[in-house]
Amino acid sequence: MSSSNVRVRFAPSPTGFFHIGGARTALFNWLYARHTGGTFVLRIEDTDRERNTPEALQLLLDGLRWLGLDWDEGPEADGEYGPYFQSERGGLYDEYLQKLRDNGRAYDKDGAVYFKVSGEPQVIEDAVRSKVVRTEEKDFVIFRSNGTPVYHFVVVVDDITMGITHVIRGEDHLSNTSKHTELFSALGAPVPVFAHLPLILKTNGPGKMSKRDRGALVEEYEQRNFLPEAVRNYLCLLGWNPKDNTEIFSLDEMIERFDLPGINKDAARFDDKKLAHINGAYLRSLPLDDFVEKGKPFLEKAGLIDENTDRDYLRTVLDLCQEKLRSLDDLAGYVGYFFNDEYPIVEKARRKIFKKGDPVARLKELAVELAKLEEFEEEILEKTVQGLSEANELYTGDYIHAARLAVSGTNAGPSFYALLRVLGRERVLGRIERFISGCQDAEN
Ligand code: GLU
Repeated sequence: MSSSNVRVRFAPSPTGFFHIGGARTALFNWLYARHTGGTFVLRIEDTDRERNTPEALQLLLDGLRWLGLDWDEGPEADGEYGPYFQSERGGLYDEYLQKLRDNGRAYDKDGAVYFKVSGEPQVIEDAVRSKVVRTEEKDFVIFRSNGTPVYHFVVVVDDITMGITHVIRGEDHLSNTSKHTELFSALGAPVPVFAHLPLILKTNGPGKMSKRDRGALVEEYEQRNFLPEAVRNYLCLLGWNPKDNTEIFSLDEMIERFDLPGINKDAARFDDKKLAHINGAYLRSLPLDDFVEKGKPFLEKAGLIDENTDRDYLRTVLDLCQEKLRSLDDLAGYVGYFFNDEYPIVEKARRKIFKKGDPVARLKELAVELAKLEEFEEEILEKTVQGLSEANELYTGDYIHAARLAVSGTNAGPSFYALLRVLGRERVLGRIERFISGCQDAEN
């Protein structure tokens, strides 16, 4: 049950894709409803028959669900609320047309129905931008000659009959608003509060983000395996400002802090890098068990783990790598060598390490020492490497770089001693030995 009178709506027209601008509008409405304890309504503006396919609708609903934006009412379908459909509300539009005819504000001309404007200046108090005053000079069509109602009319009838108190929508609708306020007044209904959200500009250069720009579509993020919580967090920063430069919010914090006065007037610029950065921050902050659950399917798909994989080992590996990851898409590539002895040796890394010194000699020395250890703990491992390098008057790096390459095939990764600990003695010694004999085979 809602505890305030605030009623907001997201009113998308299905177009065959779900633009992040639309998702941002949905999110801001949803946040405002949750912030005020009000009601969030989903209304599908489906009167354009051609574009309005079941697939286009599904894409919108899937996108909203993926982002966790649930709506609070609607006709019940399969034990859930379905959205409202404009196409099912035809009777209402006729009824409201009659009201306008009755008070002399609608008339027929050339087969269409026109709305008679008042000619009064319309004062639009917008919660985001300063007051806009605009006068509609010309009567406008509200029913086309083919009998279908026009957007300006249906949107106002829907907002009246659904008791919408706040219209939060994209700035591109600002120029329509004086038509809408005329209609609200002519129908004797209170004018809702408007809040027009700033445009979203593409990453580089001028111009609005279009559906062809990378990152423009919600469905793309799901395919790229972003965390929905991270995308939602990023979207809330597109045109809203928490004042203290906080970038990462829990959902509760977001709901608590979101409000209309914090919405920016200036256009927001889409920033793919920031989104990736936020995604990484969310991945790092997941409780380990959640991270394991989210990561598992990627490792399964890459053929790295199966039902026989030791669960504790999996957990330890992911614990070690969680810190470093920016995207789940990178996971299998990052942790492959933990699960597969047939890891590739990165050529660039190999060349770098073989350029100076004698890594094979270092590995032989190291293997002798490691074989003596009873415990494979980080501190002990570190002391061992330090002792070796002091005794031979070398750098610890000479041992570390060679050993990292041998046991993981690369020169980047998690902390070295932790890497050895997690791989464990048998694997480490086996891999070093194999690496050495591989090098010797290559020489012969
Ligand atoms: N169907 C319109 C759109 O997708 C919504 C207009 C409104 O929110 O008033 O832009």
